[in-house]
Amino acid sequence: MPRIYLSPPHMSGLEAPLVQEVFDSNWIAPLGPQVDAFEAEFATLISAPHALALSSGTAALHLALLLAGVGLSDEVLVSSLTFSASANPVTYLGARPVFIDSEPVSWNLDPALVVETIERKARHGRLPKVVIPVHLYGQSADLDPILAICARYEITVIEDAAEALGATYRGRSPGTLGWAGIFSFNGNKIITTSGGGMLVSADVAFIEHARKLATQARDPAPHYQHSEIGYNYRLSNVLAAIGRGQLQVLAERVRRKRKICETYRQLLGDLPGVSFMPEAPWGCATRWLTVITVDPAQFGATREDVRLALEAEDIESRPLWKPMHLQPVFRDCEVVGGAVAEALFRDGLCLPSGTAMGEDDLARVAGVMRKMAR
Ligand SMILES: *Cc1c(COP(=O)(O)O)cnc(C)c1O
Repeated sequence: MPRIYLSPPHMSGLEAPLVQEVFDSNWIAPLGPQVDAFEAEFATLISAPHALALSSGTAALHLALLLAGVGLSDEVLVSSLTFSASANPVTYLGARPVFIDSEPVSWNLDPALVVETIERKARHGRLPKVVIPVHLYGQSADLDPILAICARYEITVIEDAAEALGATYRGRSPGTLGWAGIFSFNGNKIITTSGGGMLVSADVAFIEHARKLATQARDPAPHYQHSEIGYNYRLSNVLAAIGRGQLQVLAERVRRKRKICETYRQLLGDLPGVSFMPEAPWGCATRWLTVITVDPAQFGATREDVRLALEAEDIESRPLWKPMHLQPVFRDCEVVGGAVAEALFRDGLCLPSGTAMGEDDLARVAGVMRKMAR
């Protein structure tokens, strides 16, 4: 039986003709008409006023933090339960991440802890420069209270929506509610360009400045002239063509991801000690990955036992992100709370959620787990 992967790329068939167009026009370069069209179509799809296609989500976050004015010794609040790319760009700028725990209802940034931390830091006259809510596994964080406290203290909000394309928060797209939002088209995300990212904002001056910095910060002059340090962060015209094809099936992919989660729930929901990532009441989660927690006392095996049993059947599953405050590289950083993220990391498992999976594949995964349950 073929290996089942966690969330492999799923091409629709619309991508190849668009890539062929790029070859036919010989526009094999960073920038180009496919990049322009990809930006416009992406912006329309999520109702973002302006979009900038970049080489990765990490590059998008780096530029957003830089242009938010984050610099040496500044503090940036960020979810602890996330991928390291949410925090790494903070350190590129010599700033310090402060890791905040999750709330149980969404597994995302706990707004009460954000408020508490900002008010404590305000009393000490040391406000964080930026807050980065991360929208994990296709579900939006509770943005309203975070936006409110940040507005009160004039703190910039940059949303890490790398995992949440296609989700909603009170009818809007996460990534479009803060000053800036970033998205990723890495190989395992809900849609992919093999690698790539998008920066969105309503602030046109910011997006145009980021566009300049991403293109080696060339001044408008016929010769090469530079008055600031630039980066090589633009997306290839070839990859943008793939992205345009993928965008057309995003809604279909979200429907399928949600159906996969529903099927897992039917197949596994009665097992003792197995719970599913909750869907918070404020929006629609894409279920980019179906995530469960396994209570070993009730289930009779740990999430690592489950992972190894699946692996023995050539099925890929994965623990949740190891919280940033437990990472050796961030051991000296401040952390607020942490018990929720730690428990989720201990018991949580991401199940294979590829949109090309068939019902037989889902039954194969569930079969392994059912055999293990008490
Ligand atoms: C994938 C991801 C990123 C980084 O995106 P890249 O395009 O891989 O650089 C950032 N944050 C989160 C939460 C992610 O899952």
